[in-house]
Amino acid sequence: MTRRKAWRPSSKSAPANGQASNMAIIAFIGVGNMGGGMALNLVKAGHEVWAFDLSADALARVTAGGATAAGSAVDAATGADVIVTMLPAGRHVRAAYEGELFAAAQPHAVLIDCSTIDVATAKALGEAAAARGLAMVDAPVSGGTAAADAGTLTFMVGGPDAAFEQARPVLEKMGKAVIHAGGPGMGQAAKICNNMILGATMVATAEAFVLAEKLGLDAQTFFDISSKASGQSWSMTSYCPVPGPVPTSPANRDYAGGFAAALMLKDLKLACEAAQGAGASVPMGAAAEALYQLLVNNGGGGQDFSAIVKLLRG
Ligand code: NAD
Repeated sequence: MTRRKAWRPSSKSAPANGQASNMAIIAFIGVGNMGGGMALNLVKAGHEVWAFDLSADALARVTAGGATAAGSAVDAATGADVIVTMLPAGRHVRAAYEGELFAAAQPHAVLIDCSTIDVATAKALGEAAAARGLAMVDAPVSGGTAAADAGTLTFMVGGPDAAFEQARPVLEKMGKAVIHAGGPGMGQAAKICNNMILGATMVATAEAFVLAEKLGLDAQTFFDISSKASGQSWSMTSYCPVPGPVPTSPANRDYAGGFAAALMLKDLKLACEAAQGAGASVPMGAAAEALYQLLVNNGGGGQDFSAIVKLLRG
């Protein structure tokens, strides 16, 4: 595909109204459940977004919203000021950058991987980019598809200071918080450590509600006490695993929507793998991983992760 139509102003050309433009040409690779909403927020911010995805349906959603479909990842990346990837796992991200994107990137471009992947791959890619003189950050997100659509994600960013500063304005168009966590891979480190707490506290919270139930303690009463006492956590007050106390929690809609148990399992596996590599002991994380594996094996992977309470009830 021929790159950049003549009518398309480049990010460096003066706009017709004479005002300074912050518009950038952005390649967005992987416009699925998360990436689709994120790419559309970049379009809404006035950027020129070239999207590529293996799925025609995913591409159709973003082109309907004003992005341009690229014929390949290289086509999207060629001539782009910013390259964003939002792909399933580390192997997809590594293949995309090592296979094509590093070679296609302009020297001034910033490369932003928003996927949740293993720390080792994120670190290796960040270092490989730096060795080529390219600016790259790992920038995984907290927040699900609703936050991706609304532009209210939290980004945890790993990479050199200069690359972070280059990525920040783009990330701010997709999120409510952009936090620099450290060097390459540290965004992923923050993400998996956070989600390991989330998985473990959800299991502990669900266990406590089941015990309360079996002891004859009313769930609402237990919530009213524990949510104001030392047992309080985000798992209890935002995603309470039993219906009633928190009307917006997925438990009230039979665990539909929310944060899928399969994704929680993915993050717990990444955390346990990273712990093994780093020589850290994570018995609570490992126990949570085993329980989520059981939930997924029992067909619960598509349910919200608070559905672990059903497994614990037996
Ligand atoms: P998804 O499967 O909906 O989207 C991934 C997209 O990547 C798909 O459309 C797929 O076709 C595309 N893809 C795969 N390989 C490709 C390639 N080589 N080139 C181009 N496109 C390719 O997944 P998602 O829910 O959007 O998640 C994306 C990432 O975000 C994952 O790493 C996930 O762990 C993370 N994440 C998801 C959530 C969530 O709630 N869904 C929350 C936080 C983080």
